[in-house]
Amino acid sequence: MTHRVVVVGSGFGGLFAVKALAKADVEVTLIDKSSHHLFQPLLYQVATGILSEGEIAPATREILRHQHNARVVQGLVESIDVAAHVVHWRFHDTERESPYDSLILATGASQSYFGHDEYATFAPGMKSIDDALELRSRIFGAFELAEIQDDSEKAQEMLTFVVVGAGPTGVEMAGQIRELANRTLAHDFRRIDPSKARVVLVDGAPQVLPAFGTQLGAKTKHELERLGVEVVLDTMVTSVDDTGLALKHADGTEQRIASICKVWAAGVQGNPLGKAVAEQTGAEVDRSGRVKVLPDLTLPGHPELYVIGDLMAIDSVPGVAQGAIQSARYAADSITARIAGGTMPTPFSYSDKGSMATISKYQAVASIGKLRLTGFLAWLAWLLLHLLMIAGFKQQVSTLVRWLLSFLSNGRSERVTTNQQLVGRLAMEQLGNRTSAPLMRGETINPTRAQRPSP
Ligand SMILES: Cc1cc2nc3c(=O)[nH]c(=O)nc-3n(C[C@H](O)[C@H](O)[C@H](O)COP(=O)(O)OP(=O)(O)OC[C@H]3O[C@@H](n4cnc5c(N)ncnc54)[C@H](O)[C@@H]3O)c2cc1C
Repeated sequence: MTHRVVVVGSGFGGLFAVKALAKADVEVTLIDKSSHHLFQPLLYQVATGILSEGEIAPATREILRHQHNARVVQGLVESIDVAAHVVHWRFHDTERESPYDSLILATGASQSYFGHDEYATFAPGMKSIDDALELRSRIFGAFELAEIQDDSEKAQEMLTFVVVGAGPTGVEMAGQIRELANRTLAHDFRRIDPSKARVVLVDGAPQVLPAFGTQLGAKTKHELERLGVEVVLDTMVTSVDDTGLALKHADGTEQRIASICKVWAAGVQGNPLGKAVAEQTGAEVDRSGRVKVLPDLTLPGHPELYVIGDLMAIDSVPGVAQGAIQSARYAADSITARIAGGTMPTPFSYSDKGSMATISKYQAVASIGKLRLTGFLAWLAWLLLHLLMIAGFKQQVSTLVRWLLSFLSNGRSERVTTNQQLVGRLAMEQLGNRTSAPLMRGETINPTRAQRPSP
């Protein structure tokens, strides 16, 4: 029988693992709860109206249409029986199971609210297309609400945006909201002046972009402040609600900021399937819920079970696209070698290709080996790298056109927002995630029956 490989997750890890198995004598089943491969590094551009969701999320089925040893199925994996080698999953209410000879688990990580998941309702994270579209509705909606306030103080509250977390995503979001306010929306309103919007970036660390080192952190902070972003460091968020958030500074003083539009870009939490397989194999999980893998990326006593990408914890491999891609290729090579009875690859080692973050139009920072780039040069490097990364996806041309529009004219063509995007999270929270199929059939939903936690 042909060797069956099940890959869970179609992010950078899962997708690149499937592609790396293209020539292997295996039958691959790729299972993901979404229909697309998501290019997470550009989510902030969907949230701020530069790109459409389709441009950063091509259909997985289409990407793999010529790879005949791979089958794509859409489904939510609910459990994995490690001893029996079976993955249990379902699409809406239809339950299925997929037996495997090798399993690659690449379900990534989600946003961590550090034990306060209730904040998510008021401060969405940035991990999925749903998140980005909800944030787009909230950001543009805040300007709309400000325009119809009679009280100028109230209007200013609507125009106060708070981004929590000063890593690359937080820096990019804060910079882009400022760009929207300063440039894109500058002439679109009659009663408010969008450039008077307040954008606050908060972090518990003493610097922005800690992973980039002090020099680039200081440069980024300076550039953000020049743009008009208030950078508040050494400060913890102590509560978040519908009208604002409370902060506690390092000196013990407390502060409340009134804001209806908050963005959460701090902390990651490994997908719960990681903990579930760790418990079955005796592997450990770290504080972020990532699975501590063996040097060959498998789990103890299970050479057929690989955990890769953002879900794996090994040495100091960061949760970045390159970590996922390199671990995916390693797992695929290892499976191919095992089937062929050949030499197994040496332990996984990560090759750091550097990090980049954009701050605003024509401004970025990049740390590549010993090289530190800032300003326009770093931005150009960012542009070229991202064009290369989306090469191979047909969205490359339309993305380039949108970027030209946005960079040359300050215009943004993706400003559509809908009520469903705005309220969808609340509806899902109330109805649970088993409701889609009954809703598609037009049945009445009983919220209490529909509840069932999702991994
Ligand atoms: C906003 C943002 C910006 C980023 N910017 C950069 C950057 O500039 N440069 C960089 O290198 N990295 C960046 N990263 C990190 C990078 O995107 C990740 O390291 C990478 O996506 C990890 O790949 P992965 O395959 O491990 O996980 P993911 O890409 O998260 O994929 C996980 C997949 O698993 C699926 N899944 C989860 N649970 C289930 C389940 N129960 N059943 C079925 N399917 C499931 C999900 O739908 C998803 O498709 C960024 C991340 C974010 C969120």
